[in-house]
Amino acid sequence: MSARRGITILGSTGSIGCNTVELVEARPDLYRVEALVANSRVDILVDQAKRLKARLAVVADEAAYPALKEALAGSGIEAAAGAKAVVAAAEIPDADWVMAAIVGAAGLAPTLAAVRRGAVVGLANKECLVCAGQLMMAEVQKHKATLLPVDSEHSAIFQVFDFDQLDKIEKIILTASGGPFRSKSRDFMADVTPEQAVAHPNWSMGAKISVDSASMFNKGLELIEAHHLFDMPEDRIDIVVHPQSVIHSLVAYVDGSVLAQLGAPDMRTPIAYALGWPKRIEAPVAKLDLAAIATLTFEQPDPLRFPSLRLARSALRAGGSAAAVMNAANEIAVAAFLDRRIGFLDIAQVVERTIEGVEHCELGSIDDVLAQDHKARQFASTVVGHVS
Ligand code: NAD
Ligand code: MG
Repeated sequence: MSARRGITILGSTGSIGCNTVELVEARPDLYRVEALVANSRVDILVDQAKRLKARLAVVADEAAYPALKEALAGSGIEAAAGAKAVVAAAEIPDADWVMAAIVGAAGLAPTLAAVRRGAVVGLANKECLVCAGQLMMAEVQKHKATLLPVDSEHSAIFQVFDFDQLDKIEKIILTASGGPFRSKSRDFMADVTPEQAVAHPNWSMGAKISVDSASMFNKGLELIEAHHLFDMPEDRIDIVVHPQSVIHSLVAYVDGSVLAQLGAPDMRTPIAYALGWPKRIEAPVAKLDLAAIATLTFEQPDPLRFPSLRLARSALRAGGSAAAVMNAANEIAVAAFLDRRIGFLDIAQVVERTIEGVEHCELGSIDDVLAQDHKARQFASTVVGHVS
């Protein structure tokens, strides 16, 4: 048995995935890599697998399999493809630490597979908690898995959250950068292009989460994520806009103390925290220079220009399938916006109409979640057809 921690990275070619690969590669004394999983980017995946000496490389897209197999021939690295192979990669027992960094509800099945074998899961894929939070958290408990939030806000809360004195926590406060349109008018937002929406002022991220940040759906998803991770009711989770993205979130206690975690806006810090946990490891990030930053500011989010926050709060209060439907509709709407089929402000409209149009139900199993997710995607696609 090697003393090094076995690692599997789901979504290794994405923004979170590449940052994770960089940190893992820097510490071969601590980590060895079992499996790397991507959708279809064979070139990046093969390069990563060879550099990290992974045992297995998987593409979800079966059409990419011949290229993967050919590129790995003679390397000793196994190749596999398809949705089942993605789940099988998450199940490899030799990886006791799994990074869940697939984007969207597509991450649900493999993340759940890692949870069900009691792994330590670095959770970047917030959508799986949004659409199946209750079921996921029950599985985490049942299988004694460990969920370590990688989302910067939730990592911040995790670091200052006193799990032994839950009754002394008054509320948690999620900070939001406000995204690229924080101070723009609704008229301006009506005509923005995908390029403008993905140009985030502070963070460099994948396309979907960048659009989510611009619409503030990201903060809505994070509200629901925080509710499940920290068992906080909706009315005890505040959202405050903090354009500098230095304070990553806060926990308020009954004695008036408010504890925060600060850092440069660089995902390598929360990823390193999850990788090293329960210890800390170094991350090659810029050190925080408070005197140079000089000013930290805060403001209320504008509910008129960012209806996403109202939609997320009401989905969370409604419970059952509401958040899964909201998430699926948002994925369809964001893809349509990135494809230039609908405008930026249409995203919230598509989501709202889908929530109204898809019948609400309770979610008793993951199959129920997948069925509602499917229905919501179909409904939202029809709405997209009408508004475009
Ligand atoms: P990304 O688009 O850059 O990468 C997504 C990854 O998922 C890629 O490796 C892609 O190949 C893979 N993938 C997509 N569909 C797949 C499928 N069906 N099966 C297997 N793999 C698939 O996205 P990202 O920005 O790295 O975000 C990943 C997740 O982390 C998202 O849930 C996002 O909300 C969350 N997150 C990201 C950031 C960030 O800074 N990028 C911060 C917080 C949370
Ligand atoms: Mg976040």
